Formats: sequence, structure tokens, C-alpha cells
Amino acid sequence: MKTPTLPRPLAFAFFASIGALLPAAQAAEFAANWLGHDRNRPQPPVVDPGYPSTPERAGKAPSDAVVLFDGADLSRWAAMDGQPSKWIVRDAAMECVPGSGYIRTLQSFGECQLHLEFATPATVKGNSQGRGNSGVFFGMGRYEIQVLDSYQNKTYADGSCGSVYNQYPPLVNASRKPGEWQTYDILWTPPKFGAEGKLLSPARVTVFHNGVVVQNNVTLIGETSWLQRPPYRQHPEKLPLALQDHGNPVRYRNVWVRELDGGKPEFYLPDATLESYTGQYENCEVSRKESNLILKFSGVETVLFAESPTHFFSKDVDIQAEFDPADKTVQVSVGEDGGKKQKRK
Ligand code: MG
Repeated sequence: MKTPTLPRPLAFAFFASIGALLPAAQAAEFAANWLGHDRNRPQPPVVDPGYPSTPERAGKAPSDAVVLFDGADLSRWAAMDGQPSKWIVRDAAMECVPGSGYIRTLQSFGECQLHLEFATPATVKGNSQGRGNSGVFFGMGRYEIQVLDSYQNKTYADGSCGSVYNQYPPLVNASRKPGEWQTYDILWTPPKFGAEGKLLSPARVTVFHNGVVVQNNVTLIGETSWLQRPPYRQHPEKLPLALQDHGNPVRYRNVWVRELDGGKPEFYLPDATLESYTGQYENCEVSRKESNLILKFSGVETVLFAESPTHFFSKDVDIQAEFDPADKTVQVSVGEDGGKKQKRK
């Protein structure tokens, strides 16, 4: 039997319309034009899924996750300015020390799956927003998923536990009692910006609180803030995750994240570290733009992203730069060509 075929323009319109319905990554995959049941299509990677925490046993992260806290130490966290965090580790949990400030991850994350467990203080003090308040932030403090003791504690709906703060109340209140461990499983899609800061696509988030969906792929209208609803402001797609100090000793454990957008790990270095690399070298010039370095080399200007405190890479061309803070040199390599150490003038 002859398979009916669509005329070309119609077929294009049909597939283009399907592409428009799919998330960008899936649409790109679709556009790659795999056959149905294509035997050459790559197999999904095998992942040991780990297991959730129970009161008796700490959880185990999936094998491909970046473990941010496993009960041992705060080595993957810092204060917002990059200095050592003043939060403490007690009974295999990281605990907010009131007045010590937010903490952030050293590594930056874009589209990701985040799992964490939190417990608000067992001894109830305060009410409304003053009770067991903390928060999970994406985008280096810009977008907050509220953490609050919402167990029989009335507050404004868009500030309840599981809310996108000042934007969306949770669909339900799935809170456990104060002092009990609770879980968040969050799917985060960062906003994307084009040249000159134009918003190309807004942030989206899905949140499960204790396994119950409380945010279903909602679209953020901008940054989250108290009293105001500020619009989006351009920022890099990958930025650190942060946890809020809101004056209550909220505890966290079993924190891990899975990156969904591929690429190399990126780190968010303190301004002082970035600044220390800037200057005129023998064959290149390095300057700083916000959380990135700009390399001018052989007539080309490219943004450098930190893969470690000393190693940087470009996303436009296969250029890498290794800084040596001790002897004030940089070694710029292109592809396989290693280059040589250049002294700063
Ligand atoms: Mg908060």
C-alpha cells in the first residue's frame, strides 16, 4: 500500500507546528530528524538512581548528580561574596546561623533538577513570615522558592512554603510539622536573554514538596522580591544556587543537583579572584565583565567561563586559559595548541 505523503510545504508546516509545541531542547532533537524507532539513536545513559532519605538512613544521590551536601562539610558552599560561609554543620545537617547571611554554591547551574531536604526549627518561635523562614534561590539570589514553617501558620499565600515568592502560592499546603524533615524536588529552567539584555524566554519551575506537586511548570514574571515585583534583568544562564538566612536556624541535608543542559561545570569566582587575573599580558589582554573574564587574543574577543579557580574556557571557540596566580602568568591554548606562558606586563 502506498504511504500517503503530505505536500512539502504542508509537511513543513506540520512539523514546524509540532516543533513549536515542544520545549526548545526537544524541538532541537526533533529537528535532528531521527527516524521513528531509529536503531542509531543514542541510548539514554544508565544512572544509579540512589534512594531517598528516611529517618533511619541518609539518602543517596543519583550517580550523575553533583552532591552539594552529604552531611560532611560546606566545601561546596560559600558566603555570597565568596568568603567562607558562617553556617554550621551539626548532626550531619547544615544549619543557618541567624545573621550570617545567605550561602551559595561555588558552582553555577542553569537548567537543573535540585533535591534537598529541610527542617524548620522544632521549637516554634514567631509566626507568619517570622517562623522557620529560609528559601531556595536560583540565579544567585534572584528567584526564590520559599522555605517556611507553614504547618498551622497563617501567612500571605504567595509567601507560604512552596510558593514562588510574591508570585505563585503553592497549589496545596503539603507541610510537615516543625522539626520534621521535608523534601523539595525542583525542576528549574532559567530565563534566557539575547543580545542587549532582551528576554528571549522567561524562567519556569516545577516544585514537588514532600512528593506532592505544588508548582506545575509555572512561568516566573520576573525576579522575586518582598513588596515589589521587579522585572527580569539580564544575567548569565548559569549562576549559583543559594539558601536564605532569614533569621531562623533552618537545617538542610542531602542536597544534590543534576545538570540538564550539558556543557562543562562552571564556577562563580569572587570578584577579587577575577580582578587579580585582569591586565595586559605579552600576547593578550584580560578584562572583567561582571562574573566573567573577557579575553582579547589575536584580534578575537571572547568571554571566558571558569572551570576551576584557575582554568577558563570560551564557548565560542576552543580557547582555554590557565592562570598562575603565583607567577602572574596566563597560558592561552587554542585547540590542541598549548601556547606558552605569558607574563603580565
Ligand atoms: Mg524566605
